[in-house]
Amino acid sequence: MRKGDLNISYRIYANAAELDKSDADLMLAAEKSLGNAYARYSGFKVGAALLLENGEIILGNNQENIAFPSSMCAERVALYYCKANYPGVKVIKIAITAKASSVKLMEPVSPCGACRQVMSEYERIQNTNIEMILKGEEGEVFIFDTVTELLPLAFETKAL
Ligand code: ZN
Repeated sequence: MRKGDLNISYRIYANAAELDKSDADLMLAAEKSLGNAYARYSGFKVGAALLLENGEIILGNNQENIAFPSSMCAERVALYYCKANYPGVKVIKIAITAKASSVKLMEPVSPCGACRQVMSEYERIQNTNIEMILKGEEGEVFIFDTVTELLPLAFETKAL
């Protein structure tokens, strides 16, 4: 038997003002996007903004439904739109933020496991990292250089 260890590495910025302009602009786009979230059941609005290698910015926000499992996260709304309309164009970065109706979010919001899996596969097939920039309403910003940092040992197999 051997013991394995996993280490997660990311950068922590005190607030969005510490980001470089490109990252700050992408986060601003994500913040604007969450205003269009359809979150009538949770009151938890999430915005995502993708920066593509061609310079395009793709926005997504969470879309809820009265049949709850039919709802979709902001990250996957943006990613699926991207892949449907810009096939073969690499995703360079994704900025994710959220706003809740009940409390002020002072910590970065992390993507759910399903979104991590989807991002991980897109990262793998494009063969370049997707940087993740995470922020709450205020406070620290976390930047992960690759999805792998947030989803080590992602599901993948050559059997499918
Ligand atoms: Zn998700």
